[in-house]
Amino acid sequence: MKIAIAGSGAIGSGFGYLLKKGGHEVTLMDFWEDHIQAVQQNGLTIAVNGQQDNIDIPMDKPENIQEKFDVVFIFTKSMYLQGMLEAIEHTLAGNTKVVCLLNGLGHEKTIAEYIPKENIIMGTTVWTASLEAPGKTSLMGQGPVEVQEVDPKGKEAALTLVQVLSDCGLNGIYSADVHFTTWRKACVNGTLNTLSALLDANIEELLQSDYVQHLIREIVEEFSRAAKAKGIGLEVEEMITYLNEASKKVGTHYPSMHQDIMNKRPTEVDFLTGEVAKIGAKNGFKTPKSQTLTELIHAKEDVLGISREH
Ligand code: NAD
Repeated sequence: MKIAIAGSGAIGSGFGYLLKKGGHEVTLMDFWEDHIQAVQQNGLTIAVNGQQDNIDIPMDKPENIQEKFDVVFIFTKSMYLQGMLEAIEHTLAGNTKVVCLLNGLGHEKTIAEYIPKENIIMGTTVWTASLEAPGKTSLMGQGPVEVQEVDPKGKEAALTLVQVLSDCGLNGIYSADVHFTTWRKACVNGTLNTLSALLDANIEELLQSDYVQHLIREIVEEFSRAAKAKGIGLEVEEMITYLNEASKKVGTHYPSMHQDIMNKRPTEVDFLTGEVAKIGAKNGFKTPKSQTLTELIHAKEDVLGISREH
């Protein structure tokens, strides 16, 4: 299969590596000059669960790539999704499948502005990755990657993708309800990530505070209400139980938004609590915690001099 990764940072490079190792023809696309140059000159250096490797893999800016692909995985940060779609439009054929595994809400609508719904496959993944330096990344975990089509006509493509992912060691799963899974993951990120970033605390430290526990419940209630407005059943008690279970597994981990703030990079908050606040405003209900958390994260970005330009 001819596969492109649009946005080959931490997680995109990891997926590109495993898909290429699995025998596919993979091209990495990105805008970061230093990273592109490093991969072009020295190959991609990667540790998958500690196992070091280096491979030659084509990488370039989208404007320098003239081929069309069977499948494109999008792995930008949420706020750069639209820009990436514009940049890669010429690499999409009429039947190219676009797979979106970004964290956050509202991406399906953005992608649907560019390609037919039957070509969109949405999903989530619990693989984790980090980019240590240009050309040097690591991928951790076992997955899974849960995917599902958004239009019934795309079902066969989604099933084929599940097989491709599994054959490449990425642990593909066909999701029974990708919208629910996406909301559940966004709710985890909208609670734990935002609070960790604001309070400069890891998950274990956060959950020791009764104030945090109370805040989490209130944020989950707002997510649940916004999900309902979108026709998705995200029950508060089930979500709290899920969050508690998920938190036990990650313990002393600092979530990605904390890392973004520490590394002075803009966060994806507008696509988490920010999206919940937008849905509330549109549907006539208040989301005070989501609104305030979004504003506080942006305030934190401002005081640290982090630009949100894109
Ligand atoms: P990332 O920041 O590593 O990469 C995203 C883009 O930013 C890439 O194009 C990358 O080249 C660019 N970039 C990164 N550092 C840069 C720098 N210093 N200068 C210039 N450009 C730079 O993001 P990611 O972690 O790969 O996440 C992509 C998406 O996947 C996000 O929506 C994220 O929430 C989601 N996701 C990430 C993980 C993870 O563990 N990393 C897991 C699941 C989902």
